[in-house]
Amino acid sequence: MKTKDLDSLAQTLVQSVESPIPRPSGGGSPQGFPQDLWKTPCYASLTMTHERILLIEDEPDIAEVLQYNLEKEGFAVETARRGDSGLEAVRREAPDLILLDLMLPGMDGLELTRLLKRDGTTARVPIVMLTARGEEVDRIVGLELGADDYISKPFSPREVVLRVKAVLRRKKPEPTPSDREPDLAVGGIQLDVAGHQLRIRGEEIPLTATEFRLLRLLMERAGRVQTRGQLLTDVWGYAEDIDSRTVDTHIRRLRRKLGPEADRIETVIGVGYRLRP
Ligand code: CA
Repeated sequence: MKTKDLDSLAQTLVQSVESPIPRPSGGGSPQGFPQDLWKTPCYASLTMTHERILLIEDEPDIAEVLQYNLEKEGFAVETARRGDSGLEAVRREAPDLILLDLMLPGMDGLELTRLLKRDGTTARVPIVMLTARGEEVDRIVGLELGADDYISKPFSPREVVLRVKAVLRRKKPEPTPSDREPDLAVGGIQLDVAGHQLRIRGEEIPLTATEFRLLRLLMERAGRVQTRGQLLTDVWGYAEDIDSRTVDTHIRRLRRKLGPEADRIETVIGVGYRLRP
């Protein structure tokens, strides 16, 4: 079956959730479904793979257009109009990703990020911030707090969908050749790859999913310079023309977590970063 066919089938399935497709009398597949496909488990799995996005945005027009475009792509979208009700929704729904406006009534986006990242049950939910012009400082603070990405307003809904997909893609655990991947060790830095655990000179340090991927890549390629473009592509899954300050911010955060081993991440001026073996 071609991708295009699958896309249109998925679309039909999305619609069918809202308005059930009438089944012909006497059984058989509902209108629009190939007979063989209707009977396979594929139907069930397609309807169940919807990833859930919580959109916290007080601007009704923006919320509406984003919700429409994300649902069109097959995401299940829930919305909140305030920071405090957004926080409740995260705790209640455990979404796969949060799209978060920064200026919100009730509680602002940065405070919300701080609370979510501090709580072990919500710390790993990826956050993509929606930021307005003139919120440069807030954006950097947000990334420092552990947000995974930001999108500047005004944005195209298509850009938002692509970023959301990229963030979700890199959150998924990579297929592993064996159950147990070997640990990585460089100097006093020990990374348990299977368990997603970092130890610095024996002390356990929590990492976000993005920090883990970044550190793992630097350790696997220790001694070799990685350009910002390479890191954006390999860690974030982006093409190279996206703002490379994202990389710098995450490196800064990672260095802080490495503590006494921080200077192992060397800045190669004008190029990128290298982990000193
Ligand atoms: Ca707002």
